[in-house]
Amino acid sequence: MSPRSAPPRVLTVAGSDSGGGAGIQADLKTMLALGTHGMSVVTAVTAQNSVGVQGAWELPVEAVRAQYRSVVDDIGVSAVKTGMLASAELVEAVADLLAGTDAPAVVDPVGVSKHGDALLAASALDCVRTKLLPVATIATPNLDEVEQLTGVRVRSEDGMRRAAAAVLAYGPAWVVIKGGHLTDGVGAAKAVDLLTDGSEEHWLRAPRHDNRHTHGTGCTLASAIAAQLAKGQTVLEAVTAAKAYVTGAIAAGFALGDGIGPVDHGW
Ligand code: PLP
Repeated sequence: MSPRSAPPRVLTVAGSDSGGGAGIQADLKTMLALGTHGMSVVTAVTAQNSVGVQGAWELPVEAVRAQYRSVVDDIGVSAVKTGMLASAELVEAVADLLAGTDAPAVVDPVGVSKHGDALLAASALDCVRTKLLPVATIATPNLDEVEQLTGVRVRSEDGMRRAAAAVLAYGPAWVVIKGGHLTDGVGAAKAVDLLTDGSEEHWLRAPRHDNRHTHGTGCTLASAIAAQLAKGQTVLEAVTAAKAYVTGAIAAGFALGDGIGPVDHGW
């Protein structure tokens, strides 16, 4: 029997979440669920559960570079996703590695966890703006990350448009502004994201599920986009399909431990 042909290969460059809800663990589950082969370059290890991050340790730059080279030089990658990068040194090293590949790169500029734990040093923000965003095919900031990176405070859909322009000014080809925390004029919550490259504008709307178990949402969306790009979808197709997958994963999110449970990658 001849071996079957390999599925598309997707690489996550991110931190480990010992609780299995976010980070590398969420990324690999998402990649599997979407029919791709997931690979990982671990940048940092967190001691983490449903109530917060109890500790975080970043890996040496050489360890990150070596993992990346091992994967790329032998197996190859069809798309890359970046998540928690912890420090300015790691952001710079990862940006350099991405600059040397033709594979599309989805950059989730992870700053702070839902529990308020810092996953990126404040001193690394400038490196994200000037080194990492310019090599991104798609950047996927949430509203807090937009404010941290650009100073634009978003309160409306028009604000999302201004935020997108401010992020695109740093050089990514596309940006997805995740408006998940936005409420409309009458206070109703909705899950609206804006995908734009500065000329095309796509508003992606989904019903907002009233479920507090949303740990790992951002990691899952970025990984799902990377997986769909690896399968050959266009940017619009990939982001649309990824949003549908995340919406289902949030709807199926479940309680674990005493705090915020994870989205369900296998819904
Ligand atoms: N832990 C790690 C290692 C992450 O990469 C991330 C997000 O990217 C988080 C935690 C935060 O996840 P959330 O904000 O969904 O709780």
